[in-house]
Amino acid sequence: MAQYDVIVIGAGPGGYVAAIRCAQLGLKTACVEGRDTLGGTCLNVGCIPSKAMLHASHQLHEAEHNFEKMGLKGAAPKVDWKQMLAYKDDVVATNTKGVEFLFKKNKIDWIKGWAQVPEAGKVKVGDDIHEAKNIIVATGSEASSIPGVEIDEKVVVSSTGALELPKIPKKLVVIGAGVIGLELGSVYARLGTEVTVVEFLDQITPGMDAEVQKTLQRVLKKQGLNFVMGAAVQSVEAMKTKAKVTYKLRKDDSEATVDADVVLVATGRKPFTDGLGLEALGVELSPRGQIRTDGHWQTNVPGIYAIGDVIDGPMLAHKAEDEGMACAEVIAGKAGHVNYDVIPGVIYTTPEVATVGKTEQQLKEEGRAYKVGKFPFMGNGRAKAVFQGEGFVKLLVDAETDRILGCHIIGPSAGDLIHEICVGMEFGASAEDIALTCHAHPTFSEAVREAALACGDGAIHV
Ligand code: NAD
Repeated sequence: MAQYDVIVIGAGPGGYVAAIRCAQLGLKTACVEGRDTLGGTCLNVGCIPSKAMLHASHQLHEAEHNFEKMGLKGAAPKVDWKQMLAYKDDVVATNTKGVEFLFKKNKIDWIKGWAQVPEAGKVKVGDDIHEAKNIIVATGSEASSIPGVEIDEKVVVSSTGALELPKIPKKLVVIGAGVIGLELGSVYARLGTEVTVVEFLDQITPGMDAEVQKTLQRVLKKQGLNFVMGAAVQSVEAMKTKAKVTYKLRKDDSEATVDADVVLVATGRKPFTDGLGLEALGVELSPRGQIRTDGHWQTNVPGIYAIGDVIDGPMLAHKAEDEGMACAEVIAGKAGHVNYDVIPGVIYTTPEVATVGKTEQQLKEEGRAYKVGKFPFMGNGRAKAVFQGEGFVKLLVDAETDRILGCHIIGPSAGDLIHEICVGMEFGASAEDIALTCHAHPTFSEAVREAALACGDGAIHV
């Protein structure tokens, strides 16, 4: 058996990035992955396939709603569902093969199978025991359901099943108005499905800026999504091709039901550590099943590290990637670092939502003096030219120092625009720094600059 400096368990964005960085830093590295392809949930059944489906369904929406306005006449395209799924699978295959290529290029051994850790320094896969000075656990997360609801991936599905339905459902009930529910709910609403989102809280996307929540819900309603808010789902009765969802309204405890062909359970995810044998090893877990780590991603067992969705923090691919790189650097004797204050979050609906740093509600709770600079996309020429005038950029800055504390965008390419602010925050930028930077015209990014101008003497185009 080969002796490794590092064995990474799991080849999702956390694990494969950690493996590549370890190899780049001269460490002999292997990565254990049980799926047939590399890339984990994100590349195989999460971020990437959902973006393909969002893209395809967005094109259809454009053809149905905006083409005629631009003088593009003729019948809107018909959906060939099989072909749409094949396109999505193709996108996934290109990406997963890309990771395989990167493994070869960096001389990383892919150990195929599911890993178990019998003791520190040893990883068992099938009947083989592999030795490593360091082990990085990057096993990710799995969909977590709620009591009374059993996922069968046919009628009651997680995001995985929702991305490979045999046909477009007539009626879809989505449980949970979080990121997954709204992204996949949007896909099916655009494809003609009647979508009802049942959400426990009184607002969508928990933790987001309240103005963004309200605007996004209003826009999604206009796009045809129905919302039942303040409703706790009690049970789902699944029949062969239908289901009945029972919920209780929190305001008066009354019960109601809604029928569906398919029910998407999008009520969050939980760390995936099944079969690793961590408890027997004495690796500390939190009550929520997350692996406990110190500031350097090391568990309480020396030589065993953990990163990504299996540890604390937002379950985001890019947070896992950052931890993967930093953890590799720590193992190589360098100073790995992740700035948890500047981790953006994006929802890939149309319009997109992007957020970084503090929300206004958090600043109020902390009793901080802050200023708000806001600019609507209706004042941005480029946005209006492409029918995307809905939404705004909202910048939150320290009232005294003008330093940027947070930014919340709902609008075109929000997921890309937010990074100007992320870089600014890393450099300790003020709103004035952004406002004094020349932004090309006509771009969506001018809206970010205008929000920064609004923190000072005022935005120009509003
Ligand atoms: P989420 O935590 O974002 O949202 C779950 C929602 O379900 C919440 O609004 C919650 O109030 C609601 N809920 C819980 N129990 C309920 C009940 N009994 N009845 C009705 N509503 C109920 O979870 P998610 O959307 O499943 O996403 C899981 C994870 O995956 C998140 O951490 C998310 O950040 C991540 N993710 C991120 C992206 C992205 O970055 N674009 C995309 C997909 C997933």
